[in-house]
Amino acid sequence: MAAGSEPSSTALPGSRTRSPGVEESEFQTTLDVMLDSEATFPATRAAALARWQAFLPQATRYGALRNQVVPGHPHVTRLSPALRARLVTTEALVGSLLETCRFAAVEKLVQELVWRDYWKGWLELRPSVWSDYRAEVDRLRRQADPALLRRAEAVMAGQGGIAVLDGFTRELIETGYLHNHARMWWAGYWIHVERLPWALGADFFYRHLLDADPASNTLGWRWVAGLQTRGKAYLPRRSNLEKYCAANLLADPTGLERIDDSVVAAVPLPDERPAERVAWKPLPDAPGITEGSATPPGSWGLWVHGEDLSVEESALGQMRPDVLLSVFDAQRVAALGMAPRRIAYLKTALADGLARAGHHFKCPIESCETGEGLAEALARVARERGLAGWVAMRPSVGPLADAIPAIEADLARDGRKVIWCRRRWDEHLWPQASSGFFGFWEKAQRRLATQATALAQSRDPQQPELLF
Ligand SMILES: Cc1cc2nc3c(=O)[nH]c(=O)nc-3n(C[C@H](O)[C@H](O)[C@H](O)COP(=O)(O)OP(=O)(O)OC[C@H]3O[C@@H](n4cnc5c(N)ncnc54)[C@H](O)[C@@H]3O)c2cc1C
Repeated sequence: MAAGSEPSSTALPGSRTRSPGVEESEFQTTLDVMLDSEATFPATRAAALARWQAFLPQATRYGALRNQVVPGHPHVTRLSPALRARLVTTEALVGSLLETCRFAAVEKLVQELVWRDYWKGWLELRPSVWSDYRAEVDRLRRQADPALLRRAEAVMAGQGGIAVLDGFTRELIETGYLHNHARMWWAGYWIHVERLPWALGADFFYRHLLDADPASNTLGWRWVAGLQTRGKAYLPRRSNLEKYCAANLLADPTGLERIDDSVVAAVPLPDERPAERVAWKPLPDAPGITEGSATPPGSWGLWVHGEDLSVEESALGQMRPDVLLSVFDAQRVAALGMAPRRIAYLKTALADGLARAGHHFKCPIESCETGEGLAEALARVARERGLAGWVAMRPSVGPLADAIPAIEADLARDGRKVIWCRRRWDEHLWPQASSGFFGFWEKAQRRLATQATALAQSRDPQQPELLF
Protein backbone atom coordinates (compact mmCIF):
# COMPACT_ATOMS: atom_id res chain seq x y z
CA MET A 1 0.00 0.00 0.00
CA ALA A 2 1.36 3.44 -0.88
CA ALA A 3 2.23 5.51 2.18
CA GLY A 4 -0.50 7.90 3.19
CA SER A 5 -3.39 6.02 1.62
CA GLU A 6 -6.59 5.21 3.46
CA PRO A 7 -6.85 2.33 5.91
CA SER A 8 -8.88 -0.66 4.90
CA SER A 9 -12.58 -0.06 4.58
CA THR A 10 -13.06 -3.35 6.40
CA ALA A 11 -11.35 -1.94 9.51
CA LEU A 12 -13.29 -2.67 12.69
CA PRO A 13 -13.81 -0.12 15.45
CA GLY A 14 -10.84 0.29 17.76
CA SER A 15 -12.23 -1.41 20.85
CA ARG A 16 -11.81 -5.13 21.36
CA THR A 17 -15.06 -7.01 20.97
CA ARG A 18 -16.09 -10.44 22.11
CA SER A 19 -18.09 -12.99 20.19
CA PRO A 20 -21.60 -13.54 21.43
CA GLY A 21 -21.69 -16.67 23.54
CA VAL A 22 -18.04 -16.56 24.62
CA GLU A 23 -17.90 -16.33 28.39
CA GLU A 24 -15.60 -13.81 30.09
CA SER A 25 -13.49 -16.55 31.67
CA GLU A 26 -13.09 -18.34 28.34
CA PHE A 27 -12.18 -15.08 26.63
CA GLN A 28 -9.54 -14.35 29.25
CA THR A 29 -8.14 -17.82 28.89
CA THR A 30 -7.83 -17.36 25.16
CA LEU A 31 -5.69 -14.26 25.42
CA ASP A 32 -3.80 -15.04 28.61
CA VAL A 33 -2.82 -18.56 27.85
CA MET A 34 0.40 -17.53 26.09
CA LEU A 35 1.30 -15.09 28.82
CA ASP A 36 0.82 -17.57 31.65
CA SER A 37 3.02 -20.07 29.89
CA GLU A 38 6.55 -21.11 30.67
CA ALA A 39 8.07 -19.33 27.68
CA THR A 40 11.29 -17.75 28.88
CA PHE A 41 14.18 -16.20 27.04
CA PRO A 42 17.69 -16.83 28.35
CA ALA A 43 19.65 -13.59 28.83
CA THR A 44 22.94 -15.15 29.89
CA ARG A 45 25.25 -17.54 28.09
CA ALA A 46 24.89 -20.18 30.79
CA ALA A 47 21.10 -20.08 30.57
CA ALA A 48 21.19 -20.15 26.75
CA LEU A 49 23.50 -23.18 26.73
CA ALA A 50 21.27 -24.91 29.26
CA ARG A 51 18.24 -24.24 27.04
CA TRP A 52 20.10 -25.68 24.07
CA GLN A 53 21.11 -28.81 25.96
CA ALA A 54 17.51 -29.31 27.02
CA PHE A 55 16.31 -28.82 23.44
CA LEU A 56 18.85 -31.10 21.73
CA PRO A 57 16.98 -34.40 22.37
CA GLN A 58 14.01 -33.07 20.39
CA ALA A 59 16.08 -31.52 17.57
CA THR A 60 15.15 -34.33 15.16
CA ARG A 61 11.42 -33.58 15.66
CA TYR A 62 11.87 -29.85 15.01
CA GLY A 63 11.11 -30.09 11.28
CA ALA A 64 7.76 -31.76 11.91
CA LEU A 65 6.61 -29.58 14.80
CA ARG A 66 8.16 -26.14 14.38
CA ASN A 67 5.13 -24.53 12.73
CA GLN A 68 2.73 -25.37 15.59
CA VAL A 69 1.88 -22.32 17.69
CA VAL A 70 1.16 -23.55 21.20
CA PRO A 71 1.52 -21.96 24.64
CA GLY A 72 5.06 -22.09 25.98
CA HIS A 73 6.44 -22.63 22.45
CA PRO A 74 7.96 -26.01 23.36
CA HIS A 75 8.60 -27.00 19.73
CA VAL A 76 11.09 -24.20 19.03
CA THR A 77 14.28 -23.19 20.83
CA ARG A 78 13.27 -19.65 21.94
CA LEU A 79 16.96 -18.84 21.62
CA SER A 80 16.65 -15.99 19.11
CA PRO A 81 17.34 -13.21 21.66
CA ALA A 82 20.47 -15.07 22.81
CA LEU A 83 21.56 -15.68 19.20
CA ARG A 84 20.93 -12.06 18.33
CA ALA A 85 23.23 -10.91 21.15
CA ARG A 86 25.60 -13.79 20.41
CA LEU A 87 25.48 -15.08 23.93
CA VAL A 88 25.68 -18.28 21.93
CA THR A 89 26.63 -18.50 18.28
CA THR A 90 24.90 -20.18 15.36
CA GLU A 91 28.12 -21.98 14.53
CA ALA A 92 28.36 -23.49 18.02
CA LEU A 93 24.74 -24.71 17.84
CA VAL A 94 25.17 -26.08 14.33
CA GLY A 95 28.45 -27.68 15.43
CA SER A 96 26.83 -29.47 18.35
CA LEU A 97 23.92 -30.62 16.15
CA LEU A 98 26.26 -32.03 13.53
CA GLU A 99 28.27 -33.75 16.19
CA THR A 100 25.34 -35.49 17.78
CA CYS A 101 22.90 -36.14 14.91
CA ARG A 102 22.88 -37.20 11.28
CA PHE A 103 22.76 -34.14 9.03
CA ALA A 104 19.56 -35.31 7.33
CA ALA A 105 17.80 -35.75 10.69
CA VAL A 106 18.40 -32.15 11.76
CA GLU A 107 18.58 -30.48 8.38
CA LYS A 108 15.49 -28.32 8.97
CA LEU A 109 16.87 -26.88 12.21
CA VAL A 110 20.28 -26.22 10.65
CA GLN A 111 18.53 -24.54 7.74
CA GLU A 112 16.51 -22.26 10.02
CA LEU A 113 19.60 -21.37 12.06
CA VAL A 114 21.36 -20.45 8.83
CA TRP A 115 18.42 -18.33 7.60
CA ARG A 116 19.59 -15.79 10.11
CA ASP A 117 22.99 -15.66 8.41
CA TYR A 118 21.38 -15.40 5.01
CA TRP A 119 19.43 -12.31 6.06
CA LYS A 120 22.51 -10.83 7.76
CA GLY A 121 24.59 -11.29 4.62
CA TRP A 122 21.82 -10.05 2.32
CA LEU A 123 21.47 -6.79 4.24
CA GLU A 124 25.22 -6.35 4.67
CA LEU A 125 25.47 -6.41 0.89
CA ARG A 126 22.58 -3.95 0.50
CA PRO A 127 22.77 -1.48 3.40
CA SER A 128 20.52 1.09 1.68
CA VAL A 129 17.53 -1.20 2.37
CA TRP A 130 18.05 -0.50 6.07
CA SER A 131 18.60 3.26 5.71
CA ASP A 132 15.62 3.61 3.33
CA TYR A 133 13.42 1.72 5.79
CA ARG A 134 14.45 3.94 8.72
CA ALA A 135 13.88 7.07 6.61
CA GLU A 136 10.44 5.74 5.64
CA VAL A 137 9.50 5.18 9.30
CA ASP A 138 10.47 8.79 10.10
CA ARG A 139 8.59 10.11 7.09
CA LEU A 140 5.43 8.15 7.91
CA ARG A 141 5.46 9.33 11.51
CA ARG A 142 5.59 12.94 10.34
CA GLN A 143 3.48 12.86 7.19
CA ALA A 144 1.13 9.89 7.10
CA ASP A 145 -2.61 10.44 7.06
CA PRO A 146 -3.71 10.91 10.72
CA ALA A 147 -6.54 8.37 10.23
CA LEU A 148 -3.99 5.78 9.11
CA LEU A 149 -1.77 6.52 12.11
CA ARG A 150 -4.76 6.21 14.47
CA ARG A 151 -5.65 2.84 13.01
CA ALA A 152 -2.03 1.71 13.29
CA GLU A 153 -2.02 2.78 16.96
CA ALA A 154 -5.21 0.81 17.63
CA VAL A 155 -3.79 -2.36 16.07
CA MET A 156 -0.53 -1.92 18.02
CA ALA A 157 -2.57 -1.54 21.21
CA GLY A 158 -4.14 -4.96 20.62
CA GLN A 159 -7.42 -3.48 19.43
CA GLY A 160 -7.37 -4.60 15.83
CA GLY A 161 -10.53 -6.67 16.22
CA ILE A 162 -9.31 -10.21 15.45
CA ALA A 163 -9.13 -11.80 18.90
CA VAL A 164 -6.33 -14.26 18.24
CA LEU A 165 -4.13 -11.63 16.58
CA ASP A 166 -4.87 -9.13 19.34
CA GLY A 167 -3.70 -11.85 21.73
CA PHE A 168 -0.42 -12.08 19.80
CA THR A 169 -0.06 -8.31 20.07
CA ARG A 170 -0.29 -8.59 23.84
CA GLU A 171 2.10 -11.49 23.84
CA LEU A 172 4.63 -9.42 21.91
CA ILE A 173 4.31 -6.44 24.23
CA GLU A 174 4.28 -8.47 27.43
CA THR A 175 6.97 -11.02 26.61
CA GLY A 176 9.07 -9.52 23.78
CA TYR A 177 8.60 -12.67 21.68
CA LEU A 178 6.35 -14.15 19.03
CA HIS A 179 6.57 -17.54 17.37
CA ASN A 180 7.71 -17.34 13.72
CA HIS A 181 4.30 -18.38 12.42
CA ALA A 182 2.57 -15.75 14.59
CA ARG A 183 5.00 -13.12 13.23
CA MET A 184 4.06 -14.13 9.69
CA TRP A 185 0.31 -14.02 10.40
CA TRP A 186 0.57 -10.74 12.28
CA ALA A 187 2.70 -9.02 9.63
CA GLY A 188 0.46 -10.43 6.86
CA TYR A 189 -2.63 -9.13 8.65
CA TRP A 190 -1.08 -5.67 9.15
CA ILE A 191 -0.03 -5.37 5.51
CA HIS A 192 -2.67 -7.24 3.52
CA VAL A 193 -5.77 -6.96 5.72
CA GLU A 194 -5.35 -3.64 7.54
CA ARG A 195 -3.42 -2.31 4.52
CA LEU A 196 -1.05 -0.40 6.77
CA PRO A 197 2.52 0.47 5.67
CA TRP A 198 4.91 -2.42 6.30
CA ALA A 199 7.63 -0.08 7.63
CA LEU A 200 5.48 1.03 10.59
CA GLY A 201 4.67 -2.57 11.49
CA ALA A 202 8.34 -3.53 11.24
CA ASP A 203 9.20 -0.65 13.56
CA PHE A 204 6.61 -1.85 16.09
CA PHE A 205 8.21 -5.30 16.10
CA TYR A 206 11.69 -3.78 16.26
CA ARG A 207 10.85 -1.80 19.38
CA HIS A 208 9.41 -4.79 21.25
CA LEU A 209 11.16 -7.97 20.15
CA LEU A 210 13.95 -9.15 22.45
CA ASP A 211 15.58 -10.60 19.34
CA ALA A 212 14.99 -7.44 17.25
CA ASP A 213 17.42 -7.68 14.39
CA PRO A 214 17.80 -5.16 11.56
CA ALA A 215 18.23 -7.99 9.05
CA SER A 216 15.73 -10.68 10.12
CA ASN A 217 13.05 -8.16 11.05
CA THR A 218 13.29 -5.74 8.13
CA LEU A 219 13.68 -8.50 5.57
CA GLY A 220 11.06 -10.73 7.23
CA TRP A 221 8.57 -7.88 6.87
CA ARG A 222 9.62 -7.19 3.30
CA TRP A 223 9.18 -10.87 2.51
CA VAL A 224 5.62 -10.88 3.90
CA ALA A 225 4.87 -7.72 1.89
CA GLY A 226 6.08 -9.39 -1.32
CA LEU A 227 9.02 -6.99 -1.73
CA GLN A 228 11.79 -9.42 -0.95
CA THR A 229 10.79 -12.03 -3.51
CA ARG A 230 8.94 -9.51 -5.63
CA GLY A 231 5.30 -10.44 -6.12
CA LYS A 232 5.38 -13.39 -3.69
CA ALA A 233 3.53 -12.00 -0.70
CA TYR A 234 2.60 -13.98 2.43
CA LEU A 235 -1.15 -13.85 3.12
CA PRO A 236 -2.62 -14.72 6.53
CA ARG A 237 -5.34 -17.32 6.04
CA ARG A 238 -7.93 -18.53 8.51
CA SER A 239 -7.46 -22.16 7.42
CA ASN A 240 -3.74 -21.87 8.15
CA LEU A 241 -4.33 -20.46 11.64
CA GLU A 242 -6.90 -23.18 12.33
CA LYS A 243 -4.40 -25.82 11.24
CA TYR A 244 -1.41 -24.60 13.26
CA CYS A 245 -2.78 -22.69 16.30
CA ALA A 246 -3.59 -24.49 19.54
CA ALA A 247 -7.37 -24.71 19.80
CA ASN A 248 -7.52 -22.64 23.01
CA LEU A 249 -5.94 -19.69 21.19
CA LEU A 250 -8.87 -19.72 18.79
CA ALA A 251 -11.56 -20.13 21.45
CA ASP A 252 -12.68 -16.59 20.74
CA PRO A 253 -13.34 -16.51 16.96
CA THR A 254 -14.01 -12.74 16.88
CA GLY A 255 -12.85 -11.21 13.62
CA LEU A 256 -11.66 -14.45 11.99
CA GLU A 257 -14.01 -13.83 9.08
CA ARG A 258 -11.70 -10.97 8.06
CA ILE A 259 -8.98 -13.46 7.24
CA ASP A 260 -11.20 -16.01 5.51
CA ASP A 261 -9.15 -17.59 2.74
CA SER A 262 -11.51 -16.21 0.11
CA VAL A 263 -11.33 -12.58 1.26
CA VAL A 264 -7.64 -11.90 1.82
CA ALA A 265 -5.84 -10.48 -1.22
CA ALA A 266 -2.30 -9.16 -1.52
CA VAL A 267 -1.92 -5.40 -1.29
CA PRO A 268 -0.42 -3.81 -4.44
CA LEU A 269 3.34 -3.45 -4.10
CA PRO A 270 4.75 0.02 -3.64
CA ASP A 271 7.25 1.21 -6.24
CA GLU A 272 10.79 1.15 -4.99
CA ARG A 273 14.22 1.42 -6.54
CA PRO A 274 16.13 -1.88 -6.77
CA ALA A 275 18.42 -2.35 -3.80
CA GLU A 276 21.92 -1.16 -4.59
CA ARG A 277 24.52 -3.84 -3.94
CA VAL A 278 27.86 -2.89 -2.39
CA ALA A 279 31.14 -4.79 -2.64
CA TRP A 280 32.00 -7.10 0.26
CA LYS A 281 34.80 -5.73 2.44
CA PRO A 282 36.66 -8.63 4.06
CA LEU A 283 37.86 -8.31 7.66
CA PRO A 284 40.29 -10.36 9.74
CA ASP A 285 38.97 -12.52 12.59
CA ALA A 286 41.58 -10.96 14.91
CA PRO A 287 44.14 -8.14 14.73
CA GLY A 288 47.34 -9.14 12.93
CA ILE A 289 49.52 -11.51 14.89
CA THR A 290 52.91 -9.91 15.54
CA GLU A 291 55.78 -11.91 17.00
CA GLY A 292 53.56 -14.58 18.40
CA SER A 293 51.12 -12.10 19.95
CA ALA A 294 47.50 -11.74 18.88
CA THR A 295 47.53 -8.14 20.12
CA PRO A 296 48.90 -5.35 17.94
CA PRO A 297 51.81 -3.31 19.37
CA GLY A 298 50.79 -0.64 21.87
CA SER A 299 48.00 -0.54 24.37
CA TRP A 300 44.58 -1.64 23.09
CA GLY A 301 41.15 -1.96 24.58
CA LEU A 302 38.47 -4.44 23.55
CA TRP A 303 35.01 -2.96 23.05
CA VAL A 304 32.39 -5.55 23.97
CA HIS A 305 28.99 -4.75 22.50
CA GLY A 306 25.51 -6.24 22.17
CA GLU A 307 26.15 -7.82 18.75
CA ASP A 308 28.73 -10.25 20.07
CA LEU A 309 28.65 -11.13 23.73
CA SER A 310 30.93 -14.15 23.61
CA VAL A 311 34.10 -12.56 22.23
CA GLU A 312 36.21 -14.81 24.43
CA GLU A 313 34.94 -17.72 22.32
CA SER A 314 36.11 -16.07 19.08
CA ALA A 315 39.59 -15.59 17.60
CA LEU A 316 39.75 -12.41 19.71
CA GLY A 317 39.99 -14.69 22.73
CA GLN A 318 43.76 -14.86 22.07
CA MET A 319 44.21 -11.11 22.55
CA ARG A 320 45.74 -9.44 25.59
CA PRO A 321 43.66 -6.27 25.86
CA ASP A 322 44.48 -3.61 28.48
CA VAL A 323 40.87 -2.91 29.25
CA LEU A 324 37.39 -4.14 28.34
CA LEU A 325 34.58 -1.68 27.81
CA SER A 326 30.85 -1.98 27.32
CA VAL A 327 28.66 1.06 26.73
CA PHE A 328 24.94 1.21 27.23
CA ASP A 329 24.06 3.89 24.72
CA ALA A 330 21.01 5.51 26.27
CA GLN A 331 20.73 8.08 23.43
CA ARG A 332 20.47 5.41 20.75
CA VAL A 333 18.04 3.36 22.80
CA ALA A 334 15.81 6.39 23.33
CA ALA A 335 15.95 7.33 19.63
CA LEU A 336 14.83 3.82 18.67
CA GLY A 337 12.00 3.85 21.22
CA MET A 338 13.04 0.43 22.60
CA ALA A 339 10.50 -1.13 24.94
CA PRO A 340 11.56 -1.41 28.62
CA ARG A 341 11.55 -5.21 28.46
CA ARG A 342 13.99 -5.13 25.57
CA ILE A 343 16.23 -2.63 27.37
CA ALA A 344 16.28 -4.84 30.47
CA TYR A 345 17.20 -7.88 28.34
CA LEU A 346 20.03 -6.00 26.66
CA LYS A 347 21.43 -4.77 29.97
CA THR A 348 21.43 -8.26 31.50
CA ALA A 349 23.07 -9.73 28.40
CA LEU A 350 25.69 -6.96 28.27
CA ALA A 351 26.55 -7.46 31.96
CA ASP A 352 26.88 -11.21 31.41
CA GLY A 353 29.06 -10.77 28.31
CA LEU A 354 31.35 -8.27 30.01
CA ALA A 355 31.72 -10.34 33.19
CA ARG A 356 32.66 -13.46 31.22
CA ALA A 357 35.10 -11.52 29.07
CA GLY A 358 36.65 -9.99 32.22
CA HIS A 359 37.11 -13.44 33.69
CA HIS A 360 38.69 -14.71 30.48
CA PHE A 361 40.99 -11.76 29.66
CA LYS A 362 41.87 -10.98 33.29
CA CYS A 363 42.11 -7.26 32.70
CA PRO A 364 40.21 -4.26 34.06
CA ILE A 365 36.63 -3.85 32.88
CA GLU A 366 34.62 -0.67 32.52
CA SER A 367 30.97 -0.28 31.72
CA CYS A 368 29.40 3.08 31.01
CA GLU A 369 25.79 3.94 31.08
CA THR A 370 25.73 7.60 30.34
CA GLY A 371 23.90 10.01 28.13
CA GLU A 372 27.15 11.03 26.42
CA GLY A 373 26.73 8.78 23.38
CA LEU A 374 28.69 5.84 22.13
CA ALA A 375 31.37 7.63 20.09
CA GLU A 376 32.10 10.08 22.90
CA ALA A 377 32.33 7.29 25.50
CA LEU A 378 34.78 5.24 23.39
CA ALA A 379 36.94 8.32 22.72
CA ARG A 380 36.91 9.40 26.38
CA VAL A 381 37.86 6.01 27.84
CA ALA A 382 40.59 5.59 25.18
CA ARG A 383 42.01 8.99 26.20
CA GLU A 384 41.79 8.30 29.95
CA ARG A 385 43.50 4.92 29.54
CA GLY A 386 46.12 6.09 27.03
CA LEU A 387 45.03 3.48 24.47
CA ALA A 388 46.15 3.33 20.84
CA GLY A 389 42.50 2.50 20.16
CA TRP A 390 39.91 -0.24 20.29
CA VAL A 391 39.62 -3.69 18.83
CA ALA A 392 36.00 -4.73 18.22
CA MET A 393 33.76 -7.01 16.23
CA ARG A 394 32.36 -4.88 13.44
CA PRO A 395 28.63 -4.37 14.00
CA SER A 396 26.49 -5.53 11.08
CA VAL A 397 24.14 -3.15 9.25
CA GLY A 398 21.81 -1.51 11.77
CA PRO A 399 21.79 1.17 14.47
CA LEU A 400 25.16 0.22 15.97
CA ALA A 401 26.86 0.20 12.57
CA ASP A 402 25.22 3.57 11.85
CA ALA A 403 27.40 4.92 14.67
CA ILE A 404 30.67 3.72 13.05
CA PRO A 405 31.49 6.94 11.16
CA ALA A 406 31.09 9.00 14.36
CA ILE A 407 33.14 6.49 16.38
CA GLU A 408 35.97 6.55 13.86
CA ALA A 409 35.91 10.34 13.56
CA ASP A 410 35.97 10.92 17.33
CA LEU A 411 38.88 8.54 17.81
CA ALA A 412 40.79 9.89 14.80
CA ARG A 413 40.62 13.37 16.30
CA ASP A 414 43.02 12.11 19.02
CA GLY A 415 45.09 10.02 16.58
CA ARG A 416 43.38 6.77 17.66
CA LYS A 417 41.53 4.12 15.70
CA VAL A 418 39.40 0.99 15.80
CA ILE A 419 40.57 -2.34 14.41
CA TRP A 420 37.41 -4.05 13.17
CA CYS A 421 37.22 -7.83 13.14
CA ARG A 422 34.65 -10.37 11.96
CA ARG A 423 34.08 -14.00 12.87
CA ARG A 424 35.22 -16.51 10.31
CA TRP A 425 31.70 -17.96 10.05
CA ASP A 426 30.29 -14.58 9.00
CA GLU A 427 33.20 -13.83 6.70
CA HIS A 428 32.60 -17.11 4.91
CA LEU A 429 28.81 -17.24 4.81
CA TRP A 430 27.53 -13.70 4.55
CA PRO A 431 29.06 -12.71 1.18
CA GLN A 432 27.29 -15.73 -0.31
CA ALA A 433 23.88 -14.12 0.25
CA SER A 434 24.11 -12.64 -3.21
CA SER A 435 20.65 -13.74 -4.39
CA GLY A 436 17.94 -16.16 -3.17
CA PHE A 437 18.05 -18.30 -0.02
CA PHE A 438 18.10 -21.65 -1.77
CA GLY A 439 21.25 -20.86 -3.76
CA PHE A 440 22.83 -19.74 -0.50
CA TRP A 441 21.65 -22.88 1.31
CA GLU A 442 22.99 -25.12 -1.49
CA LYS A 443 26.48 -23.75 -0.93
CA ALA A 444 26.25 -23.71 2.87
CA GLN A 445 24.78 -27.19 3.26
CA ARG A 446 27.39 -28.90 1.10
CA ARG A 447 30.07 -27.46 3.31
CA LEU A 448 28.20 -28.26 6.52
CA ALA A 449 27.42 -31.83 5.49
CA THR A 450 31.13 -32.42 4.80
CA GLN A 451 31.98 -30.93 8.15
CA ALA A 452 29.45 -33.22 9.83
CA THR A 453 31.49 -36.19 8.65
CA ALA A 454 34.76 -34.61 9.77
CA LEU A 455 33.27 -33.73 13.14
CA ALA A 456 31.83 -37.19 13.65
CA GLN A 457 35.28 -38.65 13.05
CA SER A 458 37.26 -36.17 15.15
CA ARG A 459 35.02 -35.96 18.27
CA ASP A 460 37.03 -32.88 19.15
CA PRO A 461 35.33 -30.83 21.89
CA GLN A 462 36.62 -27.66 20.19
CA GLN A 463 34.66 -28.65 17.09
CA PRO A 464 32.77 -25.40 16.42
CA GLU A 465 36.10 -23.88 15.34
CA LEU A 466 36.22 -26.45 12.56
CA LEU A 467 33.23 -24.81 10.97
CA PHE A 468 34.72 -22.50 8.34
C1 LIG B 1 7.89 -10.46 10.17
C2 LIG B 1 9.03 -11.24 10.80
C3 LIG B 1 9.91 -10.55 11.64
C4 LIG B 1 10.99 -11.25 12.21
N1 LIG B 1 11.87 -10.55 13.03
C5 LIG B 1 12.94 -11.19 13.55
C6 LIG B 1 13.88 -10.49 14.36
O1 LIG B 1 13.81 -9.28 14.56
N2 LIG B 1 14.91 -11.22 14.90
C7 LIG B 1 15.05 -12.55 14.69
O2 LIG B 1 15.99 -13.15 15.22
N3 LIG B 1 14.19 -13.22 13.90
C8 LIG B 1 13.14 -12.59 13.34
N4 LIG B 1 12.25 -13.30 12.56
C9 LIG B 1 12.54 -14.70 12.25
C10 LIG B 1 11.92 -15.75 13.20
O3 LIG B 1 10.57 -15.47 13.38
C11 LIG B 1 12.62 -15.81 14.56
O4 LIG B 1 14.01 -15.91 14.40
C12 LIG B 1 12.13 -17.02 15.36
O5 LIG B 1 10.74 -16.98 15.50
C13 LIG B 1 12.79 -17.01 16.71
O6 LIG B 1 12.26 -17.99 17.56
P1 LIG B 1 13.11 -19.26 18.00
O7 LIG B 1 14.45 -18.83 18.48
O8 LIG B 1 12.27 -20.04 18.93
O9 LIG B 1 13.28 -19.97 16.60
P2 LIG B 1 13.65 -21.48 16.24
O10 LIG B 1 12.56 -22.00 15.38
O11 LIG B 1 14.02 -22.26 17.42
O12 LIG B 1 14.92 -21.29 15.29
C14 LIG B 1 16.26 -21.30 15.79
C15 LIG B 1 16.96 -20.05 15.31
O13 LIG B 1 17.02 -20.02 13.89
C16 LIG B 1 16.92 -18.68 13.42
N5 LIG B 1 15.68 -18.57 12.63
C17 LIG B 1 14.60 -19.37 12.68
N6 LIG B 1 13.68 -18.97 11.78
C18 LIG B 1 14.19 -17.90 11.16
C19 LIG B 1 13.73 -17.03 10.13
N7 LIG B 1 12.55 -17.20 9.54
N8 LIG B 1 14.53 -16.00 9.74
C20 LIG B 1 15.73 -15.82 10.31
N9 LIG B 1 16.23 -16.61 11.28
C21 LIG B 1 15.47 -17.63 11.70
C22 LIG B 1 16.83 -17.79 14.66
O14 LIG B 1 18.12 -17.34 15.00
C23 LIG B 1 16.28 -18.76 15.69
O15 LIG B 1 16.59 -18.39 17.01
C24 LIG B 1 11.16 -12.63 11.95
C25 LIG B 1 10.26 -13.28 11.12
C26 LIG B 1 9.21 -12.60 10.55
C27 LIG B 1 8.24 -13.34 9.67
